[in-house]
Amino acid sequence: MTERQKVLVIDDEIINLKVISSILRDDVDVILAKSGEQGIRKAIELIPDLILLDVMMPGMDGFETMTQLRHDVRTCAIPIIFITALGNEIHEEKGLLLGASDYIQKPLHTNIVRARIQLHLKLVKQQRMLERLANIDPLTSLANRRKYQDVISMEWDVAISNQSLISMAIIDIDNFKQYNDCHGHAAGDRVLQQVADVFSKQFSHETHLVARYGGEEFVVLLPGLLEEESLAIMCNCLKAVEQLDLPYHSDDQRVGIVTISVGGATCRPSSSHDIDTFFRSADKMLYLAKKEGKNRVCWTRDDDSQNLKSLLEDQNN
Ligand code: GH3
Ligand code: MG
Ligand code: MG
Repeated sequence: MTERQKVLVIDDEIINLKVISSILRDDVDVILAKSGEQGIRKAIELIPDLILLDVMMPGMDGFETMTQLRHDVRTCAIPIIFITALGNEIHEEKGLLLGASDYIQKPLHTNIVRARIQLHLKLVKQQRMLERLANIDPLTSLANRRKYQDVISMEWDVAISNQSLISMAIIDIDNFKQYNDCHGHAAGDRVLQQVADVFSKQFSHETHLVARYGGEEFVVLLPGLLEEESLAIMCNCLKAVEQLDLPYHSDDQRVGIVTISVGGATCRPSSSHDIDTFFRSADKMLYLAKKEGKNRVCWTRDDDSQNLKSLLEDQNN
């Protein structure tokens, strides 16, 4: 079931709140606020999909309310529709210049209010869908590289400020060229999907991220786990792919089954340390896993974090 959208109405006149509420409440969840201050508080707390904002209010007027909503990262992207007095072009122009999506004139006409709001809620839904699509790999439905990049930057900063651990694993399907050569590209695509389904199950925890990095390579982020915990998770993942038991052949002879190699690294990031170096550490481990015979996990504790660890130990002694 899709979640109902939320509309916040900010207006000092109770009658307007009642009218708008009665127009909208069958279709959406309506949140009411009688002043700019109350509206801002509710917007931050409840993050509505759309805000209807009266221009003329005692104390903080609609323009000031809108300026404050636009300056807060939590509310700056929420579309706002101004409610203006009939024929007040100056207010309409000012509202639109401040970044309002639209305006509705008083006295309120039920059908116009409903139609305008439905249009903007539809735009909000489309915008969200585009944002989701921009972060998803179409073949496997996993997160894509762009999403991985957003998440690693965010998790890296969190780990620095909390002095917590972060693990990264790079996964590469073994001998995949041979699989394609033998069974065709379409069959190869199905393998990518099956392997991706295994990953979705393995990394279903909300703090875990698995993304298709490109081709037959995937990247996993496991924030807050110890090195041995991350390693154990990746070993389970390796076994789960083996258990898919997807054979590949050469000249009609079964030559093996689909397996993966994993290179991983764990570190406690510091400001003198960077994401690219960390990624390269995991990539070096992947290279090692391939060199040592594939279908295995190789792991390292990143150097810089070792230094930080001994530094912390020094401080504790
Ligand atoms: P290794 O064990 O060393 O990783 O060998 P490999 O054959 O897996 O690696 P290589 O880099 O030589 O080849 C990767 C192959 O992955 C070649 C490419 O056609 C295939 N591949 C990459 N993306 C896709 C895709 O989207 N679909 C399919 N079917 N194949 C893909
Ligand atoms: Mg490969
Ligand atoms: Mg590869």
